[in-house]
Amino acid sequence: MADCLFCKIAAGEIPSKKLFEDECLLAFYDIDPQAPVHFLVIPKRHIDSAAALKETDAELVGHIYTVIADLCRQLGVADSGYRVVTNVGEDGGQSVGHLHFHVLAGRSLAWPPG
Ligand code: 5GP
Ligand code: ZN
Repeated sequence: MADCLFCKIAAGEIPSKKLFEDECLLAFYDIDPQAPVHFLVIPKRHIDSAAALKETDAELVGHIYTVIADLCRQLGVADSGYRVVTNVGEDGGQSVGHLHFHVLAGRSLAWPPG
């Protein structure tokens, strides 16, 4: 999608600190980390948010969670734990309109979120 920041990152038009990439998704570090480990996982195909997911995206979402679990094991935070968050819309705190999953780890995270 034109003028979408994360479509441009997925296409390599804007640089990012990549962790993992395959044909359908990209994992890269957040530019403004909120925890010692903070990366984002995005589908390469533009999807507005989790609210726009369809039944036919079930395999993609399952794959995203599997990759997150693998990366957390590789980063050594699987045992200590981590949080996966996807913000939706204004009240949800979504600032980039391309589906992304935050993965936060490396410190004890407060609950409930602010
Ligand atoms: P949201 O607020 O939509 O849930 O999350 C968007 C996230 O994208 C924020 O945590 C923000 O720091 C991150 N972000 C915004 N612009 C960039 C960028 O150009 N590169 C990277 N790596 N992260 C970005
Ligand atoms: Zn996009």
